[in-house]
Amino acid sequence: MNNFCLQNVVKEATRFDHRSGRATLLDPILISEDCCATFTEVIDINRQMSDHNATKVYLRIRILAKFFTRTIWLYKHADFTRFNNDIQNFDWQTTLTAFGDDIDGMAVFFTDKYIEIARNSIPTKTVTIRSSDKPWFNSEIRKEIRLRDRLHKKLRKLRTVQNTKKFKVQRNKVNNMIIHAKEQFYLNANGLLDEKSNKNPKAFWSLVKKVMGNCRSTSIPPLLNQNTNEISVDEKEKADLLNSYFCNISTSSDDRVIPPDLPLLTQHSLDIDEITEAEIKDILKSLEIGKASGEDCISHQMLKYKMENILHTKFRHRCSPLKADLYRVNLVNDPSCECGCPLEDSIHVFLECPLYINFRNQLFKNIQHLADISIEHILFGTDEITVEQNTILFRNVHSYIRHTKRFFD
Ligand SMILES: [Zn+2]
Repeated sequence: MNNFCLQNVVKEATRFDHRSGRATLLDPILISEDCCATFTEVIDINRQMSDHNATKVYLRIRILAKFFTRTIWLYKHADFTRFNNDIQNFDWQTTLTAFGDDIDGMAVFFTDKYIEIARNSIPTKTVTIRSSDKPWFNSEIRKEIRLRDRLHKKLRKLRTVQNTKKFKVQRNKVNNMIIHAKEQFYLNANGLLDEKSNKNPKAFWSLVKKVMGNCRSTSIPPLLNQNTNEISVDEKEKADLLNSYFCNISTSSDDRVIPPDLPLLTQHSLDIDEITEAEIKDILKSLEIGKASGEDCISHQMLKYKMENILHTKFRHRCSPLKADLYRVNLVNDPSCECGCPLEDSIHVFLECPLYINFRNQLFKNIQHLADISIEHILFGTDEITVEQNTILFRNVHSYIRHTKRFFD
């Protein structure tokens, strides 16, 4: 029983032999170890009916929500220019200082306002997450199943040869699709698991979870005792085995060692009085895109996307951190590029500088089908293509700005 991680929850005798007067437990109820029995009972039965008593168990069963909805930001269709403008044009200074010392109020206000601005320029979409779906299931199959069910309904209402035929064709289609999807999934699962085990632990575990489904046991499986070569199934034995194993592999001995008395290195305590703009920028730069957003729903993508966008705008207005722009306003003495070219302006960085050849090739490859390659198009886009195409163009420019690492890591 232990081998299969099962337990018996009936503890009383259930059968009574009226001749010998012996009582024995003959009607156990076996449940999985990680199942939670809240109540068990042996119910007396009229001896004329049976010499067995009845057994009863109450189980607590966790019912998983079948599906829930989630709002997703469609960054691909976002109008980041408007987003940045709205943020720049809003009078943060006055509204935030009005809160005085109320930091919480400030934070709540900022979050609400920020999300409000984001909603105006970044479209959203509500998607349904069906956590109980099988991992091989997809929306295409769901669509065909709906069609099949509709045809079935129709057929039940009106039994015609044509309706029967239509339904059967659709039914077979769905069945075949399911078989194919399952086959493909399990064929690929092994390879995918191998591939992800090294590179992407997060994706690995997510896939393992999908393959395992909800049938997971939290108990420790039977362990092999290395010394006796026997299998331990008892909880205490398993704990002892694990204990001795981990004691074995830790080598340091701290018997009767008095911890050292470490002198304090400083009398100062951590006290943050002011956070500089540069510190915040550093944090924004290091944000990882694709991480889940917190409770406030402000995603990393929303915060980070701004960086390239702001730079892009600055290039247009010739107030970027490019040497040529800085030289023009007397902030540096030398307008030359690191590559040796005497003038680091946007034409040089986007079209000429030999330091970024690979990224530039990629950029050109990605945008050449949209517009002729020129500094005007790269900085301002063009009316000759659609808004969406301009957005794609700018996204590639932003990606180039990011990859050059010329302006931030
Ligand atoms: Zn250069």
